[in-house]
This record gives sequence, C-alpha cells and structure tokens, in this order.
Amino acid sequence: RAKHEGRGAIRLFTSAMDQQLRDRRALEHDLRLAVERGEFYLEYQPQHHRDGTLMAYEALVRWRHPLRGVIPPGEFIPIAEQSGAIAQIDDWVLMEACREAASWDQPLRVAVNVSAAQFRRENLDAQVRRALRESGLPAARLELEITEGVLIEEVPRARRTMQSLKSLGILIALDDFGTGYSSLSYLEAFPLDRIKVDRSFVAALGQSERSLAIVRAVIGLAHGLGVPVLAEGIETEAQMSLLVQEGCDEMQGYLLGRPRRLEAAAEKVRRAAS
Ligand code: C2E
Ligand code: MG
Ligand code: MG
Ligand code: MG
Repeated sequence: RAKHEGRGAIRLFTSAMDQQLRDRRALEHDLRLAVERGEFYLEYQPQHHRDGTLMAYEALVRWRHPLRGVIPPGEFIPIAEQSGAIAQIDDWVLMEACREAASWDQPLRVAVNVSAAQFRRENLDAQVRRALRESGLPAARLELEITEGVLIEEVPRARRTMQSLKSLGILIALDDFGTGYSSLSYLEAFPLDRIKVDRSFVAALGQSERSLAIVRAVIGLAHGLGVPVLAEGIETEAQMSLLVQEGCDEMQGYLLGRPRRLEAAAEKVRRAAS
C-alpha cells in the first residue's frame, strides 16, 4: 500500500510540475503576441519633491491578459527576459511612455524602467532618439531607470552606453539602490542624475535602527556626489517625516499616490467639451 501511495504522490507531483510548465509555455506564447494585440498599458505613479511639488511620473507596465486578467510586471518581465519577448515590450513601453508624456497638460518628466537586456542592446540610444523624435517629447523630460546589475556587468561598455544616452540630453536614475551588488565604484564611474533608495529600506524605517542608518548613509553619499535621492515605497506619514528630516530630496509611494492610468490633456479637453 505504502508503495502505491508513494507512486501516486510522485505522479501527482510530476503532474503538478507538468501543469506549471504548460502554464509557463502558454504565458510565453501569449507574451509574444501581446504587443501586437495591444494588451499592454501603462500606469503612472507620481514622484514629488520634498516640498510637495509634483515633479514626475514613473511609467509602470501592466499586461491585460484576455483570460487571466491584469498581470503585474514582476510576473511577466522575468519570463519575457528569458524568452526574448522583452525587446519588443521594452520598445513599446519606451515609445508609449514618451507619446503619453508628450500629451500631458503639464510638462512633467516621465521615468521609464529599462531592463538589463534593453540596456545591453547596441541600439538603445537609437531607440531613445527615435522615441523622442516621433513623440516630440523634449529629451530633458525623459529619465531612464536602470538597476545596479546592468552597471557591473561590463563596465566599459555600460559606460559608453550611458555616455551616449546622456549626450542625447536625457536623465538616468539608479533604481532599487542597495539591493544589488552595491559596489560604490560605479557611483564614481557613472554620471547618474538621481538615486532611488529601494523600498525595502523605507519599509523598515521606524522599526529598525539599521535601516535608518542605511538610508542616512545613502543620502549622505549621494549628496556628497551632488546627486539627489528619491525614496520609493513610502506608505506612512511616519516614514515620510523621517525621510524629510534626514534630508531626502524626493518621494514616491502609495502615501503620495498609487500607480494609475493618466488621461491625456487632449482627452480631458474632449470630455469637457462634450
Ligand atoms: P520598480 O521600478 O522599483 O517600481 C516600483 C514598484 O513598487 C512598482 O511595482 C510600484 O507599483 C510599487 N510601489 C510603489 N509604491 C509602493 C508602496 O508604497 N508600497 C508598495 N508595497 N509598493 C509600491 P510594479 O508596478 O509591480 O513593478 C514592479 C517592478 O517591475 C518595477 O520595480 C520594475 O523593476 C519592473 N517594471 C515595471 N514596469 C516596467 C517596464 O515598463 N519595463 C521594465 N523593464 N520593467 C518594469
Ligand atoms: Mg523603477
Ligand atoms: Mg524601484
Ligand atoms: Mg524594483
């Protein structure tokens, strides 16, 4: 009997793995078609200056799957990166974010996340130039968010890529700071315009002395280099006032605003007129 049950368990186990694999293959397949089918859309989360002024919006991609509903980027970006579908998605996001930002009624900056794969591509600067030209968005209103991982891989090459991007007049922010390899040498080597403290440190603020020490050190380091610091993932007033007190320059998080659809100025005018 025991033997029987054992085999049954193995069968159950393998069929669960089969199911997972089938699910994943189905998602990979759907992802490849999703751009053409227009299933992606962008939400925007506000970034405020410490004095309260709205400075920018970060574009965050969502996938409206016809059967599974809305899937967050954390679930499909890794799959897209492995299957190669990421290039098409990245191109779409960049173009769409520039186009939407160009139609806002205020000339705010738009921050776009760049995957490691996109940063490694030879033609990223050509891609950016095209998005700016076709959308009419001024370069100074576009910021790309990169993560530490892309900087340590091939330093000379990453530096060339950054320099050619910077020469277009766009800005570059370092996202999720503190969660990656955190080598301080790239802070010196790369011309960053902004450092974003990862929300894991912000979440622990007020509960752990250690996270306060880390946040304080990051702010001191960035300011020493002349770079502004943005804290992400702010959810409470307590976190907010602690960050203001510590000299943090800019703020983003649910407390200030969740990611949401933004209607274009043209849309607003149309609706007001009707
Ligand atoms: P990220 O760039 O660090 O974006 C911040 C994430 O934190 C977003 O999750 C945002 O919704 C969430 N968030 C913001 N404020 C709060 C808060 O107060 N509390 C909590 N708990 N969460 C908050 P989201 O939209 O699910 O995106 C996750 C990650 O997926 C992003 O992290 C980014 O790395 C990636 N991603 C998003 N959009 C794109 C894209 O268009 N292209 C690429 N390559 N990656 C993207
Ligand atoms: Mg980001
Ligand atoms: Mg982040
Ligand atoms: Mg992140």
